[in-house]
This record gives sequence, C-alpha cells and structure tokens, in this order.
Amino acid sequence: MIDLHCHILPGIDDGAKNWDESLKMARLAVSEGITHILATPHHMNRSWINPKQVVESLTSELQDRLDTEDIPLTVFPGQEVRLHGEIIKNINNNEISFIDETNKYLLIEFPTAEVPAYADRLFYEMQTNQITPIIVHPERNHAILKDPNILYEFANRGIMSQVTAASYLGKFGKEIEKLSFQLIEHNLAHFIASDAHNTTNRLFYMREAMQKLEKDI
Ligand code: FE
Repeated sequence: MIDLHCHILPGIDDGAKNWDESLKMARLAVSEGITHILATPHHMNRSWINPKQVVESLTSELQDRLDTEDIPLTVFPGQEVRLHGEIIKNINNNEISFIDETNKYLLIEFPTAEVPAYADRLFYEMQTNQITPIIVHPERNHAILKDPNILYEFANRGIMSQVTAASYLGKFGKEIEKLSFQLIEHNLAHFIASDAHNTTNRLFYMREAMQKLEKDI
C-alpha cells in the first residue's frame, strides 16, 4: 500500500516533532501494510516554508534512519503546497516538489474556509504547463462541504482529488464523513491517503479505510 500524503518529516510543520516520532510513525505505517510513503510537509502555509531542497535532504536522512532501524518502508519526497498566486513562478525556481518523478502531479491545499476565486485561473495555467493539480482533502473545505458541485466542476476539467482516510472513517465528524462517502461514490475521489501527522490523534487509518471501502463499494 502506498500513502501519498503524510507529515512524517520531523520538526518542519505540524507533523512529527522529532526523529523519534518520525520512526514511530514509520513503524505504525508498516503495521498497517504501507510499503511506500510520500513525505509531504506543508509548504507556503502560515509559517511553514519547506522548499524542495529541504524536503529532499530530510527524506533522504529519514530513509537512512529507516534502513538502519530495519524498518521496511520506502520514502519519497513530496510537498503539500498551499494554493498561492506564485506557484508557477516557484515551480520555475525549483522550490516545488511534485509527487512523481516526471513533475506532473502536485498536491494542492485550499484554505479551510473557501475556494479562492483565482484557483480556476491558476489551475488552468498549471494544466497548460502539463501539471495536474490534486486537491487534498476537499471534503474538509467549507465551501465544498456546502456545495460539492465545485469539486465536480474541477474534476470535469481533469483536476484530481485526494480524500483523507480519517475523514471517510468519521474522525472529523459526520458531515465530513458523509461527503467523503459521496465523493468516493461519485468517482470524485481519485486517491485515498492518510494525511497522518503523528502517533496520537492524526493517525494513518489506511487499513481501516481500505476495509470500509471494500464493504461500501
Ligand atoms: Fe496534510
């Protein structure tokens, strides 16, 4: 099992606090059947600025530590990029880490309360540069919760979505659980990922989500 969205790198956002917690998260991931993880720290979100070079060097250090500890997990660099007006410029500056080697897929996070009006134009611009945005946890965005058609319109234009395992299991409340199910049912969820942050209250829940998915769909 591959996890596309995870805050496993230590001390650079609201994810793992230190190497000890990173390794604890890694062991937990392996126990759920996860074999590969994309390390996707926040970027351009509040005080969290984690350009590609930072992510790459910490990811490679994490891999060394996993190997030393004999934890059978492979990590790759990624990023959870907060939607911002200078994404294209920052891609050209080589600050942005895609989630694939061909630099095609990018995890994009909206602000929680809204879908900014400029997202349309920016996504169009990204797509004309052969980039496919993947909207992370749309089910937790207040505007999409109120009107899921916003996401339908994006999907019609080839923009993808990642639903969070914990949302689908009801860990963020009934309303978010219901929308997660609807998005999956209507083929608007292209990926399920953990968005795990720690080993206490923001866990992986990937195995549980897959089991529920098998039952539901
Ligand atoms: Fe995240």
